[in-house]
Amino acid sequence: MRQIKLIILCCIILFISSGCEKPDTKELSTDQITTAPVESMDTSNAVEIPEKPYEPAAKIEDVKLIGYSTAIVCGIINDSLAEEQGFAIYSDAGELITESPGILFEEKYYAKIEGLEEGSEYIVRMYGTIDNEIVFSSDYSEIKTPAVIMDKDHVEAMLDEQIDYSLPAWQEEPDEISEEQMTIRRAQQLLCLIGQPYGKKDRFSLELQLNQLRLEYSFNSYGRFAFWDNVDGNPDEATNGYIIEILQTKEECTQDDFIFPFVPAPHALVEYNLYNENGGQMDAERYIYDHLKLDEEVYKSYMEYPFIYDTDEFKEKYPDLAEKKESGEYSGLQIEYTIAKNKVMFYQKNMEWMEETASPKDPTILIAEENQDFDAIVIVQAAVAYSYLYMELPKDRDLEELSIQCGYRTCDVQATLYSKKTNFAQVAKLSGAWHYDRQVQSYVPGFSNHQFGIALDLCNIFAFRGYNLYPYFQENAERYGFYNYYVESWHWVYLGE
Ligand SMILES: [Zn+2]
Repeated sequence: MRQIKLIILCCIILFISSGCEKPDTKELSTDQITTAPVESMDTSNAVEIPEKPYEPAAKIEDVKLIGYSTAIVCGIINDSLAEEQGFAIYSDAGELITESPGILFEEKYYAKIEGLEEGSEYIVRMYGTIDNEIVFSSDYSEIKTPAVIMDKDHVEAMLDEQIDYSLPAWQEEPDEISEEQMTIRRAQQLLCLIGQPYGKKDRFSLELQLNQLRLEYSFNSYGRFAFWDNVDGNPDEATNGYIIEILQTKEECTQDDFIFPFVPAPHALVEYNLYNENGGQMDAERYIYDHLKLDEEVYKSYMEYPFIYDTDEFKEKYPDLAEKKESGEYSGLQIEYTIAKNKVMFYQKNMEWMEETASPKDPTILIAEENQDFDAIVIVQAAVAYSYLYMELPKDRDLEELSIQCGYRTCDVQATLYSKKTNFAQVAKLSGAWHYDRQVQSYVPGFSNHQFGIALDLCNIFAFRGYNLYPYFQENAERYGFYNYYVESWHWVYLGE
């Protein structure tokens, strides 16, 4: 804010002294434009006005209010406004009160505006710089925050009545409850008040975490865009605050006031999505192949151990097999055995490179902390999508039964799984036939969707094919961007829409 003001001030001075003409444009009226060079005193360069009028300068698409103090704004700005785009908030008296840089996602800008007051009106415009000149859009949107109809103290008092955390007489009260624990309690009381499952009392349960994820997502997203930094599995003061604000401003609340629909967005490697008779998964082989070509040493080892039949390298290395297959004379599983073994050899030769290449490309969050460390991290999108799927399961069952067995796995952990805890190098010596059989059960490190953080394994047999929860998953998972890998019916991959 201060920075922008300074820039504008400086701009005006330079602008006046340089004596340039204001741009002739219908889209931006002159009193809504502040134009002038920002950095340079070189007037020949800095005051040049683009010949083309700024059109259309910008458009505020929508404003989503969170409680009364916060809004997520979304807008489009013309490409010619090249840099530092964002949103400026004015009071209804026209005073610029805050600004927020925009984050670009799928050609639209998003920002979270905080610190709004209840029952007030605001105007939001977009800004950007053209040739070092800051311009504010003439297009604007009005924000009208709801009025508070219930005191915060009153809401707090209601919360304290929700869950009784006092210990039985024979148990000693702790001297101090940590701040984190207080936040968790608050989150549970809030969930209880809005009629949502909150897990076991005073315990950070999977149910609490997943429900919290839905809230975090609801308050930090707009359509396919989400402020992932704010979406984590821990109950959070800000999120508790939003719920309180909503309670303060609504006569009556339903779940829909707090939990907004999930909009699946593609994961980072969406171009490698593969849908076939095995269900849905990410084509890790193809991803590895595309990347190994960028590294000379790694590529050499691919030529030695090619693992995709449909590549020149494979056909060059095994011309006899390729010829047989092409002429239709091929029988047996020699190609499959070769590929299975070559994947293992390729991994063994390039462990470090594989660890680096086959890794999550999306932001990650921590979930289900009590699990072993390699099970603890799943991709934020996968986790959020799963939280919706899970929390909407038929309510007549104990939700705690159905936790995630495994999310993200490192290559190292995958190597241990693959080799059944014996030395990987020992296992690598076994025949192609052995590896072919093994790979039906467990993927070679670096080739598993778990390494990319988009796969989840469910732990409860009722979710497996042939059991009672499976049809529910089959019916609903796709709505949240989840696809089953049929060969392993516990294994679900988040592929987005
Ligand atoms: Zn799996």
